[in-house]
Amino acid sequence: MSEEKAPLHFIEQIIEDDLSNGFDSSKIRFRFPPEPNGFLHVGHLKAIALNFNLGQRYNAPVNLRFDDTNPVKENQEFVDAIKENIEWLGFSWDKECYASDYFQQLYDWAYYLVKEGKAYIDSQDSEAMAIQKGTPTQTGTNSPFRDRPVEENIRLFEEMKAGKHEEGSHVLRAKIDMSSPNMLLRDPVMYRILYKHHHRTGNDWCIYPMYDWTHGESDYIEQVSHSLCTLEFKPHRELYDWFLDQLPTSNKLRPYQREFARLNLSYTVTSKRKLAQLVDDNNVNGWDDPRMPTIAGMRRRGYPPKALINFVNTAGISKRENVIDVSLLEFCVREELNKTTARVMAVVNPIKLVITNYPADQEEMLTAINNPEDESQGSRAIPFSRELYIEREDFKEEANRKFFRLTLGKEVRLKNAYIIKGESVTKDDQGNITEIQCSYDPDSKSGSGSEASMRKVKGTIHWVSVSHALEATVHNYDRLFNDESPDQHKEASFLDFVNPSSLHTQQAMVEPSLNSLSVGERVQFQRLGYYVVDSSSRENELVFNKTVGLRDTWSKKQ
Ligand code: ATP
Ligand code: MG
Repeated sequence: MSEEKAPLHFIEQIIEDDLSNGFDSSKIRFRFPPEPNGFLHVGHLKAIALNFNLGQRYNAPVNLRFDDTNPVKENQEFVDAIKENIEWLGFSWDKECYASDYFQQLYDWAYYLVKEGKAYIDSQDSEAMAIQKGTPTQTGTNSPFRDRPVEENIRLFEEMKAGKHEEGSHVLRAKIDMSSPNMLLRDPVMYRILYKHHHRTGNDWCIYPMYDWTHGESDYIEQVSHSLCTLEFKPHRELYDWFLDQLPTSNKLRPYQREFARLNLSYTVTSKRKLAQLVDDNNVNGWDDPRMPTIAGMRRRGYPPKALINFVNTAGISKRENVIDVSLLEFCVREELNKTTARVMAVVNPIKLVITNYPADQEEMLTAINNPEDESQGSRAIPFSRELYIEREDFKEEANRKFFRLTLGKEVRLKNAYIIKGESVTKDDQGNITEIQCSYDPDSKSGSGSEASMRKVKGTIHWVSVSHALEATVHNYDRLFNDESPDQHKEASFLDFVNPSSLHTQQAMVEPSLNSLSVGERVQFQRLGYYVVDSSSRENELVFNKTVGLRDTWSKKQ
């Protein structure tokens, strides 16, 4: 595999070093730990590919762990969507785990810490605790409850669990160091009281563990060897280690946290909270709107999984934050679609064209190659007749020498068909063209081998036969934000940069063979771009999403 030859990225280098220092390769295990509080986005894609690629490289299992410790924002719909996304990307996890399955174990360990005098119940409100926390340059102050007797801490912790105290009345805090230069070590909260229904544990619990007290311990329970997370967790590493150091000793494998840079993409926001806001404010039609940088949205937009994985692999794994240009993503999508999609004809802004010397009662089937990049995709038949639709933009009554499409008195080729010449037009009262008349050269049929079929004309345009065409709805998308870094402005919200015209819908005419397409199938509309059949399509009512445009190369060359 070419991947194997690529230079190692720094995480692989760390693993290689561990192995050469005697780490047992059969003990390598990774995990991808999403919080089910929203749909996965393009940033998660990087974390997913990183972990699962490593799993493949080291022949090691990868757990899918739902980090479901906040019942307020999490639900089953998000769990299901996350699983579906990862499967669609083509990765398979080893164990499906839930932090909520460890609630009892986490409680027992917390209880142990209380008994050891390493955790205490603080009964102040959150404002008081925030003030005592200090600042990065100023040490914190001990809570008046910090030296509570162990027996009292135990009693209160048991009562918290038993539902005897109100939300906000007490928290369990680790007793570390209020003067630590790392603010996260200033007696972090381990448990809070929450009377909330949890999507998996129901009302069994009314105290919920915090992220820092859950994550490393979950890694330990699952025996994850290399726990990979994004850079913002770097300062948490010390706490991750501190918590693991306090657990009752055992000879089980000790996990280590390693950090890599997040994926940031231009013209995009990659934060579930912000994406949720776009959904809630109806800036888009749901988490899987084709404009959303969610995996579900990109799927619906027509991005192939392989292109997405190529994209994150190309963007690479680094230690430093950077912003990847969204055009790299589009390039990877285009490259994949160029190889895999059939070329078909669709007219998105139709005008009628009549070939006056083609008999009204005649029609014929012409042959079209499906994909010149891939012979194995074969060819298909397309109907031709006297009345056609062409793109309105492909005709001008008068044009300069650089216009290689149809004009009066000049010739162009109809793709896969004949050479035609513009003769006259019909206009309505406002002077708008309603129909174009032209003549054709009957000897010029593409592929017939005749002299006229080889004749070079400057332009080639696409078309569909009026009586055979199917009507289809086409959604075209522009960028969702009209600013390169929508969430990097101090004075403005990212919502101020939402592009008000990111969706433009057209009624198109498409060739009849498209009737056999099913939801999710991708095609290239020649000269227009790549499109995918949307899930809102119904029998005889095709709806397409434009995936990405293409560079129009052949219309000028042929
Ligand atoms: P968000 O800020 O969007 O809510 P999160 O980090 O809170 O993201 P989680 O569900 O907790 O979301 O993330 C699961 C995993 O995905 C974590 O390991 C996290 O580090 C990683 N991840 C999240 N966003 C990115 C990103 N932009 N680039 C790379 N990895 C990411
Ligand atoms: Mg998170």
